[in-house]
Amino acid sequence: MSMASTDSLWERALRVLPGGVNSPVRSFRAVGARPFFVARGQGAYLWDTEGRRYIDYVLSWGPLVLGHAHPAVVSAVAAQLERGTSYGAPTAAEVELAERIIELMPVIEMVRFVNSGTEATMSAVRLARAATGRDRILKFSGCYHGHGDSFLVAAGSGVATLGLPNSPGVPGALAALTSVVAFNDLDAVEDVFRGRGDEIAAVIVEPVLGNAGCIPPQPGFLDGLRRITHAYGSLLIFDEVMTGFRVARGGAQARYGVTADLTTLGKVIGGGLPVGAFGGRRDLMERVAPAGPVYQAGTLSGNPLAMAAGNAQLRVLAERDPFPELERRAQRLVSGLLVALERAGLPATGCAVGSMWGIYLRRGPVRSFEEARESDTEAFARLHRGCLARGVFFAPSAFEAGFLSTAHTDQDIDGTIEAVGKALGE
Ligand SMILES: *Cc1c(COP(=O)(O)O)cnc(C)c1O
Repeated sequence: MSMASTDSLWERALRVLPGGVNSPVRSFRAVGARPFFVARGQGAYLWDTEGRRYIDYVLSWGPLVLGHAHPAVVSAVAAQLERGTSYGAPTAAEVELAERIIELMPVIEMVRFVNSGTEATMSAVRLARAATGRDRILKFSGCYHGHGDSFLVAAGSGVATLGLPNSPGVPGALAALTSVVAFNDLDAVEDVFRGRGDEIAAVIVEPVLGNAGCIPPQPGFLDGLRRITHAYGSLLIFDEVMTGFRVARGGAQARYGVTADLTTLGKVIGGGLPVGAFGGRRDLMERVAPAGPVYQAGTLSGNPLAMAAGNAQLRVLAERDPFPELERRAQRLVSGLLVALERAGLPATGCAVGSMWGIYLRRGPVRSFEEARESDTEAFARLHRGCLARGVFFAPSAFEAGFLSTAHTDQDIDGTIEAVGKALGE
């Protein structure tokens, strides 16, 4: 194992990678720090190149619901590796993973695999525009749907914490086709639809807002979206890239009992390998090439290593539903953190939804990104640094969801709460 020092690696990284990283949130800029470099992950833990261990609540930003290097995933990928890495021709594993997803999320009737969540949402919106003959989409502030041009409008954590409300390079003409309203504000959705409902191809939403921390839908919000889109002939897209196989075994749709027309997936379905998918109603999916005219393709789509990892991870979830236990542990963590914060005199609120959780350093409730933004980001940055020094790795931003894996024990959680208490004591 390389024991290069973090300082020298960071210096080299800054010279050859923009901002030193390959995805902005990894830079730790939002917490005024520099990242560590990972040497290894196992179960609930990461080790850096200097040999320090961290309890990991980032879990590759969501995919690793079974923790790092789960034996079932490792052996499935190793077995596939021996047989080759990519063929550009169909494999049984693609059919198997599609069937597995459909079994756990029956609202999906057909699936197309892609290589990232970004590709999944871009493709789902293209399909929605094609199916409805309309160009406008409606999204919610703080929701992140990947970095496709149409979505980089009020796009949540990664963009918000860097102070880039919109990205240069996104054509104004395209951004103008994206309407944005506050999460959980059904009246605002009704208003937009009353004005231009017949222009709207789709409403896209993170059913639990995970890219602005962890904001559950208010009772009636998702049902309302279903009712309004239906009334105006628009489609409802649930972006379950984060919530799929995270908030319940059947995702947010199973948890809240609301049916979307199209669903986007990623993260957990790849077991830590690059993957995404979009799926939904058969009549819509049959418009995708080559079954239909809506073009979508990928050299590495349905990649055998990613399919092997995804099949292995979903097989474990299918055999034994871990989500009730994961939610109990996530609750234990959030309650413990809130008690520690209260003792330290910091106002805070938080919640756990399945294996997703979040804490805001402000008084509750938090129902939207607008309310989340009132959190004390400086206090969070200090707390983050204090926790990292004590071997606890929380997402380096005040507006990110935390995750739990089946590898996290009550002991890990109690140790985390203790570490946070000590960090707060400083
Ligand atoms: C992570 C995420 C995406 C983007 O997925 P990538 O694989 O990073 O492109 C899209 N939507 C949601 C809800 C996400 O959490």
